[in-house]
Amino acid sequence: MPLILITNDDGYFSEGIKALREALSSLGRVVVVAPDRNLSGVGHSLTFTMPLRLRKVEEDFYAVVDGTPADCIHLGYHVILEGEKPDLVCAGINEGPNLGEDITYSGTVSGAMEGRILGIPSIAFSAFGRGDIMFNEVAKSCKRVVEKVLDQGMPEDTYLNVNVPNLSHGEVKGIRLTRQGKREYREKVFRYIAPYGESLYWIAAEEFGWSPEEGTDYWAVLNGYISVTPLQLDLTNYRAIREIKFIEE
Ligand code: MN
Repeated sequence: MPLILITNDDGYFSEGIKALREALSSLGRVVVVAPDRNLSGVGHSLTFTMPLRLRKVEEDFYAVVDGTPADCIHLGYHVILEGEKPDLVCAGINEGPNLGEDITYSGTVSGAMEGRILGIPSIAFSAFGRGDIMFNEVAKSCKRVVEKVLDQGMPEDTYLNVNVPNLSHGEVKGIRLTRQGKREYREKVFRYIAPYGESLYWIAAEEFGWSPEEGTDYWAVLNGYISVTPLQLDLTNYRAIREIKFIEE
């Protein structure tokens, strides 16, 4: 029976993680370890500077007080599973997409990245929508991807960034392998004045906007397909090694 470790960055109480847990529970033992609050945008941070506390919510379901998604996978593997290697790490289902350069901020994608660093095949799941996300339908699509990966495996150094359109499972057109797209909107910074006069700033992504180039993650979800982008831990730009050879001496 496969062992699946799940985290997210929206918090253990989120609808997306409950839907994913439920959908995958028919495939094997599912252990959930998630942050005790919404940490969207926390990226791949790991907590070195203070201790962490684990809270048991119910059987095989834990919250980490002050823990990031990467912390959760770390504690899930080393503490809760006592080093027993899961067959798969899943992160999500995130409320909102993780497309283009946004994946570098994403706690969801970072949860999967941490799984891969620990040597475990890993998948990040995000729903392409804002508000009114049909998590139970989206979870069916996630389950379909998980079934394939459990069956066929995935290459070394690979983890998957999966974005699912906010459609009923029957309306989804299929699954497409995609490349990471490019963002076309700028965050806007709002300025407020505090009661005692200090300026305060709030960074906000106002609306979705990515280049709709064919073959990208955004193009796929925009057109009703599940987007599967294979990512790797090795961030080396191999083409640049040739092009900036002049640096060596
Ligand atoms: Mn999130």
